[in-house]
Amino acid sequence: MPIFSPPRYQPPFSPVQREPAAMRAFTAFERAVKGVLFGCRMCGNCILQETAFVCPMTCPKGLRNGLCGGATPERCEVDPSRPCTWYVIYNRAEKMGRLDKLLEINAPIDGSRAGHETWLNMIQFWRERGKGPHLRDILRDRDKFDAEWDQFFYDLRQPDWWQGDALYHPPAYEEPISLLEANLRTGTFVITAEIAPPLGASGAIICKKAGWLKGYVTAANFTDNASASARMNSMASSQICQSSGAGLEAVMQLQARDRSRVVIEADAMGAAGLGIRNILCLSGDHQRFGPSPMVKPDQFDMDAVEVLWMLRRMRDEGVYLDGRPIKRRPQWFLGAAGSPFGAPPKYEAIRAEKKINAGAQFIQTQPIFDYDRFTDWLEALDKRNLLDKVYILPGLIPLKSNRAAHFMDDDVPGVVIPPAIIKRMDEAGDKEGQQEEGVAIALETIEKLKNTPGLNGMHIMAVHWEAIVPRLIEEADLPRPIFQEWPIPKEEVVVETAVPA
Ligand code: SF4
Repeated sequence: MPIFSPPRYQPPFSPVQREPAAMRAFTAFERAVKGVLFGCRMCGNCILQETAFVCPMTCPKGLRNGLCGGATPERCEVDPSRPCTWYVIYNRAEKMGRLDKLLEINAPIDGSRAGHETWLNMIQFWRERGKGPHLRDILRDRDKFDAEWDQFFYDLRQPDWWQGDALYHPPAYEEPISLLEANLRTGTFVITAEIAPPLGASGAIICKKAGWLKGYVTAANFTDNASASARMNSMASSQICQSSGAGLEAVMQLQARDRSRVVIEADAMGAAGLGIRNILCLSGDHQRFGPSPMVKPDQFDMDAVEVLWMLRRMRDEGVYLDGRPIKRRPQWFLGAAGSPFGAPPKYEAIRAEKKINAGAQFIQTQPIFDYDRFTDWLEALDKRNLLDKVYILPGLIPLKSNRAAHFMDDDVPGVVIPPAIIKRMDEAGDKEGQQEEGVAIALETIEKLKNTPGLNGMHIMAVHWEAIVPRLIEEADLPRPIFQEWPIPKEEVVVETAVPA
């Protein structure tokens, strides 16, 4: 067990390197020392200065920008035998008075540094910069030394191709990009709903469900291999939905798991080319939640914060991560997931702020069953002045059966169902009785959410029960979308039949 970090979940990076024997020996020495101290994985992109000297790479997902949706103070969602690395980071940063240091947006690792030593690299970087910090200033001018120390490590951990910071970056455009954004800007209570992508190859079921929901909801979310299980992908489902007769706008979910940064850029650009304007960026469920056989361990190249930062810069600054300019910039209304029920609200609010600073314009949350805990989270966001910068759509799941309630409470990371609700479902009688009780609970929650200041709408996740959504909206007297027609002209493409000379 390392002295300053939880145990690492995966072994250190150790690529075969053609280096002189002395350098290999030095790297082995550094690996041994940092292994004992920090459980270091030798990622070569050290951010310990920012993370209260707890190595974030000990997290099973390798998240470098905060905890995941299923983290709890007691344990890691992936390996319950160990504490959550990020919870330890927040805890120690708070004790050290460095919580706000955690707002800086860290880069994904530069793979060419993985497995290399960092100490000699750091000294070389310091010499090449030709400026402080200088040890002599510790006694002569402590403030100068501290400022230069912080700047040095900032420059070291923020490469030119990333330039992460702790500032809010508002979107650099004026007109709404999507129907969802246009409706949210009106100030009405906006409803989105989830449609489960099909297991098979036919999109007919998507068209059917889009028809049920059109006129009731503004947009439909399509999950992206949720729970690490394969289905029709989110981009294809979104495209089928938008081009179906119903013409319902889609929210394409884009998770980082199973995708390198190159594929994320390519998929997001492909979505823009297809006319998909809403993208919800997620880190993704760990592969351990999927069916066996499990894929190989390292499936996370980026996390949700990094994806948001990268896509926002592609849209607003017109550059790929590698610096190549983008001639025709993509148009995306970017969203993120919110987790009111994982770690304490003050920590979750830091994570939410980081996502908003990176580029999240709307947040859809985990389902709300415990209203009081949800409002604690909302208050924590308000304390950080976030509610004016983002649209909040709390999640709602109408429970279809007591079995579903027990499953979600026991097995779905980030979902908490109070015992009183489980008891109501358990005592609701037969299948029909349970469904009616689930609807009653959902309507009670909607009533509370409708009257909660700071919310901009609601996201209904009636998974495999989408037909219930219109009934919920009617019985709860929720408003219908104001803008329902696609306001954005499609790109004019001229088909040429003759090859230019
Ligand atoms: S709970 Fe999530 S953030 Fe925390 S260590 Fe586990 S995978 Fe990482």
